[in-house]
Amino acid sequence: MKVEIRRSKRRKKTVSAKLYGDVMHVFAPHNIPEKELKKVIKNFKKRFARQNIKKKLNEEQNLNEVFNKLNKIYFDGKIKIKSIEYVTNQQKRCGSCNYRKKTIRISHSLAHMPEWVRDYVIIHEMAHILEPNHSKAFWNIVYRYNLAERARGFLIAKGMEDNQESDIE
Ligand SMILES: [Zn+2]
Repeated sequence: MKVEIRRSKRRKKTVSAKLYGDVMHVFAPHNIPEKELKKVIKNFKKRFARQNIKKKLNEEQNLNEVFNKLNKIYFDGKIKIKSIEYVTNQQKRCGSCNYRKKTIRISHSLAHMPEWVRDYVIIHEMAHILEPNHSKAFWNIVYRYNLAERARGFLIAKGMEDNQESDIE
């Protein structure tokens, strides 16, 4: 990623950045200390890199198709959601479900795990649309998927499966 810096006298405090293709344009106040600017640019680079990963991943693997397939098999096609996508800002959580907004987010790290593990996480989050908790009723739904127990073991070994309710928003 190339960086082009434009300093402006009119700009007072904040630094902003935009990505044009592979070139990052940085707009900075003219009197910002070099060291501070470097730090800000580093953070922008990270953020843009994460956004790129997210965009590419969602283009490569369309989770809506996976969702539709799982919905048919395990939920009689009854789950309705607004969106499902990979995100790059969930390091510890495999996925999350906002059952009010009906959105599901899946950690990008799942994209590099076996499909049956990824499917488990999607089914888990889908089940939260019906049961926004980890009750017995919830697990009864999840265990319609016969690889659920194995997938949980797989994720525990990776330090990514927990029994907190941190995936429900
Ligand atoms: Zn959960």
